[in-house]
Amino acid sequence: MTKIIDIHTHVGDIFHENRNITFKTNIKKGDYEDPFVEVERSGYTKPLIVSDQKEHQRLIDAGQYRVWECTLENFLIDMTESKVDYACLLPVLPNTSFEEYLAASKLDNRLLPFTCPDFSLKIPELEKKLELDLSRGARALKIHPILQNISLEDPKVEAAVEVFGKADLPTIFHVGENSYYGPDKNYPSNPEFGNPRYFYEFAPRFKNYPLIAAHCCLIAEDFANNTKGLDNVYTDTTMCSAELMKKGVELIGEDKILFGTDYPFGTFKYSVEEVRRAFNDDERMLNKVFFENAAKLLKFSENK
Ligand SMILES: [Zn+2]
Repeated sequence: MTKIIDIHTHVGDIFHENRNITFKTNIKKGDYEDPFVEVERSGYTKPLIVSDQKEHQRLIDAGQYRVWECTLENFLIDMTESKVDYACLLPVLPNTSFEEYLAASKLDNRLLPFTCPDFSLKIPELEKKLELDLSRGARALKIHPILQNISLEDPKVEAAVEVFGKADLPTIFHVGENSYYGPDKNYPSNPEFGNPRYFYEFAPRFKNYPLIAAHCCLIAEDFANNTKGLDNVYTDTTMCSAELMKKGVELIGEDKILFGTDYPFGTFKYSVEEVRRAFNDDERMLNKVFFENAAKLLKFSENK
């Protein structure tokens, strides 16, 4: 049986309501309308992002409820149930931090903490903080241009990617233009910064550093066309149907596709099912997508 690393998960409230969720206990799933359930039950064939404003608001609300239930306790129960062996925890500052994920990883060694740049710092301090995180066990770097309200053209992004690139460790970017807040909220956030073109322009400038563009298996064809000849780009299978995963492997490459859920927005159960459906009894591909590709990239071995 192949091992599973989930390259893309979150615990706690990554949004700006910023409730301290990670270490709460006994939080049960509430009863609310949840379009994420409809999408996962369709095998990720029903589109998640829709243009209808009212429908999108339902998604925003459900996303918010989901993160408020996303305690470490609930996360670990789901992880165990779906036999996911390791999960990478991706913080989004200022709302969730490397420090809380590092603490979580000390409580359970199936958790691999990533860090995130503190863009409120000046570049030298920002670099120093990331170097410290690296020395404390940060496995990789996460950047969320929309929630962190930063363009990939900002020199602070380059500085952060340099720190991990020099250590030959990857940076994972949120890619995809979508809004996380309805018209009633006024948080600083810029959906346009998620437009894939920013990543397409960024990636060739950092050819020697491994870069993961999250969610791009969903746009496999566009992604492959715009990153032609680049050997440093990877993507994850978040919110993907089996059909799209197969397309991703074919167009982007079998070493470039990493299993990811974007938990709590995607769930372990349905995401694992889709990978198994995509690659069926092809043990070699299952092993690559579920484990080997990510393990190589993160220099992860089970005995340390
Ligand atoms: Zn995510």
